[in-house]
Parts: sequence; C-alpha cells; structure tokens
Amino acid sequence: MKRRDFFKKSAILGSAAVLPAFNPSNLSAISVGDPIAISSANGLRATQKAMEIIQQKKDALDGVIAGVNIIENDPNDHSVGYGGLPNELGIVELDSCCMHGPTHNAGAVASIRNIKNPSKVARLVMERTDHVLIVGDGALHFAKTHGFKEEELLTDKARKIWLNWKESLSKNDDWFPEEQAKETYEQYFNITGTITCLGLDTYGNISGVTTTSGLAFKIPGRVGDSPIIGAGLYIDNEVGACGSTGRGEENLKNLSCFLTVEFMRDGLSPEDACLKTCKRIVQHAKIPSLKKDNGKPNFNLTFYAINKQGEYGAASIYGPRKFALNDGKTNVLYETAFIYKK
Ligand code: ASP
Repeated sequence: MKRRDFFKKSAILGSAAVLPAFNPSNLSAISVGDPIAISSANGLRATQKAMEIIQQKKDALDGVIAGVNIIENDPNDHSVGYGGLPNELGIVELDSCCMHGPTHNAGAVASIRNIKNPSKVARLVMERTDHVLIVGDGALHFAKTHGFKEEELLTDKARKIWLNWKESLSKNDDWFPEEQAKETYEQYFNITGTITCLGLDTYGNISGVTTTSGLAFKIPGRVGDSPIIGAGLYIDNEVGACGSTGRGEENLKNLSCFLTVEFMRDGLSPEDACLKTCKRIVQHAKIPSLKKDNGKPNFNLTFYAINKQGEYGAASIYGPRKFALNDGKTNVLYETAFIYKK
C-alpha cells in the first residue's frame, strides 16, 4: 500500500488506525548487546562522536550521521564531502545513504554537487519524502529546498591532485604536468575511500550511514555502491548491519551488504559473514579486467558489520586493513580479517 493510501485509509477508519508512533523502547524479544559503533579506518572521530550521542540515549541514526559529518567537513579527507577528489571534469560529486533499523526506512542521494553533507540530505530524503534515492540536479534542488547552502567543495589541494592527474594522462595532448609536482595523483587513483558508520544504540536498535566522493576522476554521473541500499549499506534491525568501502562496481554486482546481513541471519559471526562475502565477490570477478596476471583480483573491498548482540567484525579481500570500533569504553583501530595478504 502506498503511504498516501495508508493515510487515506487511516482517515476513513478513524483514530483506531493511525500510523504507529516509532518508540525506540519497543524492544523485540531478541537478546541485544551493549551499544557499539563501528566505522572504516578514517572513522575514529566518527565512532567517538556516534558513541557520545548514543550514550545520551539518542537514536543510533543521530549518532552515526553526526559522526560522519565530522569527516565530510574535513578538507584533509580526500574521499568524502568537502575536499573529496573530483570527477574527470574537476567537479566533486558525492554519494550517500542512510538506513534506520527500527523503521526499516532508508534514504539516499547520488551525484550531488555543491553540498557538503550528503548524509544529512540522505536522511531528509528518508524522513521528508516518499522516495529512497534522489540523484544529480534533483538532489541538489531538494537539498536547497531544505535550506542547504551551495558551496564549492573542491579544495585547492584536491584541485592540484586532479590537475596533476589530468596533465599526466597522455604525452600526446596539450596539458603538461609540472616538472616536479610534489603531490602525484597515482596514490589517489583507484584508491579513494569512503566512510561508513554503524551504531547499536541503548534501545538495541541499529542504524547506519555511508558517504563518499566515490572513485577519484570518475566519469561524471558515475554512481558507486555507497548510496545504494543493499550494496554500500544494509540493516536488518532483527539481525545486524553491514557497511562497505572499496571498489563500488564489484560490490554493486553482488549487493554485498545485504548478502553479509543474510549470512549473519544464517548464524555467521560478523567477521565470518564479511569474509564469506569477500570470497563470493572474488568468485564472481570473472572478467579479465578485474584480474591481475596471477589470477587474483586487482581491486579491494572491505566490509564492516555488527550484529544485534553487539558483536562486530570486518574483512577485506586484501588485508589487513583497519577499522574503527567504539564499545563505550575504548575507541580504537583494529585489523580486518582478509583473504589475501597485501
Ligand atoms: N565505494 C566507493 C565507490 O565505489 C569508493 C571507495 O570506497 O573507495 O564509490
């Protein structure tokens, strides 16, 4: 039933049939663990912030979004928000999604330009529209409708990295790289990051968010896994949650966060579920452009997961990589499990 129809039906039925108010203390019969927040390696400040908010007895979604906003606003993180690396035209395009476990609701924006905090816009898509995903100009227009200000997101440093990439593309064009460019693009090419942050709150409810500037120097309009529910993020409030970073294309072909949560539903621990997902992706990476000469994949992906019991884990195709974890007592980086040693 469409939401609109539901409202109509509710009006006909009268006060007995109103939308049930979300009550975070409506705990299910499932045993729940202590609050926890997990994030990618760039997310220590995010897990810290998320836990502070969770400990104030707020909804996990408030915590994780406030957490990733710190990284979105940081000009020195070139993988997210302000300071993110641009597309091939030198324009920053951002992707984000969020999911709220207790209502199983989700919102997302993709290819949004000039808005620093796409995660906040994703939340508004979830809470203030009947849609899940809004892209491009529509997403920008929607954000402005809600009072977001347009800003230039390309920092001078990100512009120089992009320019160095453009000037080094070919020896047969009219663009010459600076003789001794200090910052080379190679270290950023194909290895941008993303931040994902998942939280289990004091009510036993789980929410999460993923936000990114995507693949550096991408074709304009390219959308990766990060704003796609089931790929860059998935939550089932009865089971657990998964978020991801890394090569979005291979994640998209496997809807890998959904898969990871399903593996946890089948009884796997968060770490084992993440590892099994990595193995499935490697099995499915059949085309030659995804393989090295030795037959191994030429890309990486990392999955981060928590379950309802407050257990956590992460795994990468190539590792170990790091992930941030706050269990209410410590806020530290741990190493992921992995298939191949990097
Ligand atoms: N997953 C992101 C994307 O493909 C990029 C990354 O995490 O490195 O857009």
